[in-house]
Amino acid sequence: MRVYNSLIELVGNTPLVRLKKVAAGLAPTVLAKVEYLNPGGSVKDRIALRMVEDAERRGLLRPGGTIVEPTSGNTGVGLAIVAAEKGYRCVFVCPDKVGADKLAVLRAYGAEVVVCPTTVAPDHPESYYSVSDRLAATIPGAWKPDQYANPNNPESHYHSTGPEIWEQTEGRITHFVAGIGTGGTISGTGRYLKEVSGGRVKVIGADPEGSVYSGGTGRPYLVEGVGEDIWPSTYDTGICDEIIAVSDKDSFLMTRRLAKEEALLVGGSCGLAVVAALKAAASAGPDDVVVVLLPDGGRGYLGKIFNDEWMADYGFLAAETEEATAGQVL
Ligand code: PMP
Repeated sequence: MRVYNSLIELVGNTPLVRLKKVAAGLAPTVLAKVEYLNPGGSVKDRIALRMVEDAERRGLLRPGGTIVEPTSGNTGVGLAIVAAEKGYRCVFVCPDKVGADKLAVLRAYGAEVVVCPTTVAPDHPESYYSVSDRLAATIPGAWKPDQYANPNNPESHYHSTGPEIWEQTEGRITHFVAGIGTGGTISGTGRYLKEVSGGRVKVIGADPEGSVYSGGTGRPYLVEGVGEDIWPSTYDTGICDEIIAVSDKDSFLMTRRLAKEEALLVGGSCGLAVVAALKAAASAGPDDVVVVLLPDGGRGYLGKIFNDEWMADYGFLAAETEEATAGQVL
C-alpha cells in the first residue's frame, strides 16, 4: 500500500510553478515555490517540525508538555499539526490584526488562542511577545519554540527549501525572492543557495513599506506575516543583496491577480513577494531564472484581500484598471 504514517511526512517538497500571465513580457523565467501545498497550508510547517524535533532531542519538550508561541497563525498551524501527531498541548498568542478565519483554524486543531493588541510596543506587557513570555514562564512543562530566535527556523530552510529549489531548477536559479518576517526563509534558503552556487544566486528580500528591513520605523501596515518592528536574530543581515519595499496596495492587488490569472489562491505576503520578484525580473536577462516563494494560501484572507468592500474601504480598489496593471509599473 502507498500510504503515509503521518502528515508530518508530507512537509516540504513543494512544487515550482511557472508564473505565465503576471510575468508576461519579462525576459527571465519566473517560478513560484508554492508553499500552501504543505499539509498545514504554509511554509511554516517546515520550521515547526524542525524546532519541535530539536527540542525533543535536547529534552526541552517532554511527553505531556505544552508548546507556547507568539504566531500570526501559520507557525501555529504547523506546530499544531506536529503537536497533534506527537501529543502536546498548544497555546498560541496572536496579534489582533490576524484574520478571524486564521484564529478559527488554530482552534479547530485543538489549540488555545490568546489575542493581543497590534498597536502596542514590543516591550509593552500586553504585546504578544510579552504575553507569550509570561505564559511560557507560568505553564508547567511549557516550551517556547521562539521562531524569532530559534536557529532551527533558518536551519530548516537551509536543509529543505534551499536544496529543493536548487535541485528543481537543476542549478539554474539566478535570483531568489522572498518576503521577510522572522527572516528564517530568506536567511536559510538564501545562505544555502549562495553557498551551493558559489555566490552566483542573487537574494532579494520583499518587505512591507514601513517595516524595519527596508528602513522603516515599524509603522503599521496591513499585509500579514512579513515585516517587523524589531530585528530578530533569525534574520541574517549578510544574506540579502537587495531589499524591495512594497506597499499594501500593490501587495493586495497582485494577490488578487495571482488568484484570477494564475489560479493561485494565496495570501497577501505572496502578492508582496511577487511584486518584488517582477521588479527584479525586469532588470534580468532571458537566461535568468527567478524563484519567488509563496508562503501561504488565500483562504484565510477571504474577508479582507478578496473582499471588494474591505479593499475599497482602504482605498485599494480605486479603479478597475489599476488592478489589471498592478505590478506592471516596472
Ligand atoms: N508570509 C507569511 C504569511 C508568514 O506567515 C510568514 C512567517 N512570519 C512569512 C511570510 C515570512 O517568513 P519568515 O518568517 O521565514 O521570514
